[in-house]
Amino acid sequence: MLRRMWLNEYRANMLKEYRKMLKEAMMARLLRLRSLKEVTIDVDDHDESLCSICTENMEIGTVAVSLPCSHKFHKT
Ligand SMILES: [Zn+2]
Repeated sequence: MLRRMWLNEYRANMLKEYRKMLKEAMMARLLRLRSLKEVTIDVDDHDESLCSICTENMEIGTVAVSLPCSHKFHKT
């Protein structure tokens, strides 16, 4: 039982790390494109401040990347 719990936790951590790596690799690639802008979230508008990647709300002051289609996502 304990072993199973540990395994599940281990898998969850691995997944988390993997997603982080993927995101970082993707970000590095995307940031090389000129059309991307770095923006700081300054409007507390629900639609405007939702991250397109993780779908979480971005707090005011969060540094985000803005796509030409005006979608935004967390920079880090
Ligand atoms: Zn995000």
